[in-house]
Amino acid sequence: MTKVDLLIWNANSIATMNDAREIIRDGGWIAIHDGLIVQIGAGNDSQPEAKTVVDATGCLITPGLVNSHQHLYQNLTRSMKPNGVTGLTEWFWTYFPMWKELDEEAIRTSVRLGLFELALSGCTTATDHEYIHPFPFLMDAAIEEAVEVGMRLMAVRGSMTLGPEQGGVCLPGMAEGEEDVIADCIRLIEKWHDPKASAMVQVALGPSNLMSSTETVFTRSAEIAKKYGVRLHTHIADDPDETEYVLEHFGKTPLEVLEVLGWFTEATWCAHVVYPSDMEMQRLAESGVSVAHCPSATVIDGGLPGGPTPVRDLLNAGVNVGIGCDGATAGDHQSMWMETKTALLLSRLREGTVQAMTAMDALWLATRGSAKALGREGNIGQLSIRANADIAMWRMDGIAYAGSLVDDVTALLQGGPAQVWSSWVGGVPLVQEGNLVGVDVSAEVARHTKSAHRLQSFSQ
Ligand SMILES: [Zn+2]
Repeated sequence: MTKVDLLIWNANSIATMNDAREIIRDGGWIAIHDGLIVQIGAGNDSQPEAKTVVDATGCLITPGLVNSHQHLYQNLTRSMKPNGVTGLTEWFWTYFPMWKELDEEAIRTSVRLGLFELALSGCTTATDHEYIHPFPFLMDAAIEEAVEVGMRLMAVRGSMTLGPEQGGVCLPGMAEGEEDVIADCIRLIEKWHDPKASAMVQVALGPSNLMSSTETVFTRSAEIAKKYGVRLHTHIADDPDETEYVLEHFGKTPLEVLEVLGWFTEATWCAHVVYPSDMEMQRLAESGVSVAHCPSATVIDGGLPGGPTPVRDLLNAGVNVGIGCDGATAGDHQSMWMETKTALLLSRLREGTVQAMTAMDALWLATRGSAKALGREGNIGQLSIRANADIAMWRMDGIAYAGSLVDDVTALLQGGPAQVWSSWVGGVPLVQEGNLVGVDVSAEVARHTKSAHRLQSFSQ
């Protein structure tokens, strides 16, 4: 019998995140071949011979976490400004003067750093929503870096097409021409989008929001998405400034406008959705629109009025919800483990009961929920036969979990802090024994710091 490529064996527990949410305890193992999971067994089952064997004694194994919303360039301007910024419009105007100075070096180094930070937090699939394009082929540079780092990427070709002369929130000179955006979207799909289940790169279309993008770029994006079989992404119902702006300009709520623009389809996933009405939640569920919940970003500035996102209500209504870190300018960090834990805590705080979200629920959002949001249900976000071998292995035998009375998934997310011990993307090592494989971290941080300082010199 031929040897499989990799065998990870003797895990303390394996959270498969299959439909039954099955947990394999005491000596579970996973066999990987040609990038796919080919066998999963319990301790006494006979294991295949493998070219490489990894001992998972004392470890919890989960699917690699899936990040469903982020802007990787924002780690160049990490963290909210001290003294706070009130409202989304002021937030944009605070950072736009720096972001419009993004150059190719800044994009490349920030994408790499963001992916490294995500990888150390157990993430194996990232989303990068790039809606500011001060130079051509920005998205290509981001994709090239993700390919080199070896993480799966949902590359969202974002855009802002509504300049201040048309009432948009962009600063003068920042809005792109709609024809240029549409042409670049099609070019990127044709160049990079891989529809296969094993895809490392997929492309989606993402007008930034209703305050900075033209109605027609939304409707045309929906037409292109349908034609090419790609997905649609935007920010919606995420700030009182947006609600006020949209009510004034459209006479409808942001979600009502999005539906009118043809975006209520199974191909759409939206970031935030802090303010859905009961009727809107019902419509999201019926239409198959997913939500990317970014917990830190919704509370870090003191908390949005009425926030955070009503995740329990959305789930009860039948809406699929994933987890995202959002950009590091809004959420300050890029740890999917931390966002998953924060989602757990905020749901319990919001609803006032532990039943609002179990640790398993939170892990479901960060794996199955995000995978479905990205249109990749079945091939990432779960440990099952023929799924991509995207795997996170967490040490549970250290100080942080000593004396734990609860199962490993609960311990991981109620306790911590945690960093992934080892991870694989399609069976290829990304993090091994706590270290990023083949990465000179000091050199990467030094390079990033140089670009960050240059960009921050444009702060006003
Ligand atoms: Zn965002």
